Amino acid sequence: TVSENSSTGRSRILVFVRLRPLAKKEKEAGSRCCVRILNRRDVYLTEFAHENDYLRLKRLRGRHFTFDASFPDNATQQDVYLTTTAELVEAVLQGRNGSVFCYGATGAGKTYTMLGTVENPGVMVLAIKDLFTKIRQRSSDGNHAVHLSYLEVYNETVRDLLSPGRPLVLREDKQGIVAAGLTQYRAYSTDEVMALLQQGNLNRTTEPTRVNETSSRSHAILQVVVEYRVKDASMNVVNRVGKLSLIDLAGSERALATDQRTLRSLEGANINRSLLALSSCINALVEGKKHIPYRNSKLTQLLKDSLGGACNTVMIANISPSNLSFGETQNTLHWADRAK
Ligand code: ADP
Ligand code: MG
Repeated sequence: TVSENSSTGRSRILVFVRLRPLAKKEKEAGSRCCVRILNRRDVYLTEFAHENDYLRLKRLRGRHFTFDASFPDNATQQDVYLTTTAELVEAVLQGRNGSVFCYGATGAGKTYTMLGTVENPGVMVLAIKDLFTKIRQRSSDGNHAVHLSYLEVYNETVRDLLSPGRPLVLREDKQGIVAAGLTQYRAYSTDEVMALLQQGNLNRTTEPTRVNETSSRSHAILQVVVEYRVKDASMNVVNRVGKLSLIDLAGSERALATDQRTLRSLEGANINRSLLALSSCINALVEGKKHIPYRNSKLTQLLKDSLGGACNTVMIANISPSNLSFGETQNTLHWADRAK
């Protein structure tokens, strides 16, 4: 993956779309499917689609989007991992940073894609599994250490999901921005990771009104740091460090609703500052701007060394097929289209 085009200075972001299956509840409520994935790349969205009307309607209304790949509702977790993230795991072993985001409305499948279930583990778990496999294959050429940190940004407060307690303070040091006191869990195998991440996810902030439901305004960030000691050409031992950040973003619905308003009215509104700041950074990177406004939020400060530049950035836009979510799906697809 070439993430930066040297002739234009623009960062290339790989953008994927994943459609989730229609839920039983949605079917029972009589909702119809308004999205189709064609030839593994194109997404076709129409408010009026009926299965059989597709060809007739195709030229009449609806809209096509094209992405680096688009996953239909029967795509497996493994499909999604291999196409979106496997290359970044390889890059991290070479000492390059990377980040993978899941973006989309609440209920669109972000947490399923990132964390998944015990039976169907998601990108976070599959990436770590693959990392250990690759490390074992190369164990002859050096020593590795893998450290995991799992944190949350909620209302511009940073918390440690592996060791819940007081909010963490962000500090700038030689290495960049660090969350002081953040747990760095040394992982030795994949087996322990799913349980660790599930427990961490339970520590995410919940809505006061719905005790067991993760707040739609919570961002969860898993950072996997790989340290790799190798001998260079003159047999000196050098330390190579790569960091992979995997981010389950807050629900995009409110940010999108406010996206169109003026800045002044945003200040009073209950907006998600980190999500808006991320959008601004991504747009600035894609447009090849010199100044990238990382400082505008906690999320973008934390990810400053993992976005743009020589880093690999991947965006997975999650969408629901239901016509009841048409507006949100349309907003997500437009947002993803601008990130290309
Ligand atoms: P989000 O994190 O975006 O709010 P979730 O990941 O919690 O959404 O998904 C909402 C529901 O849909 C969950 O019950 C989840 O298990 C289910 N779901 C999401 N994506 C898929 C998928 N690709 N296959 C099967 N079930 C899915
Ligand atoms: Mg979620």
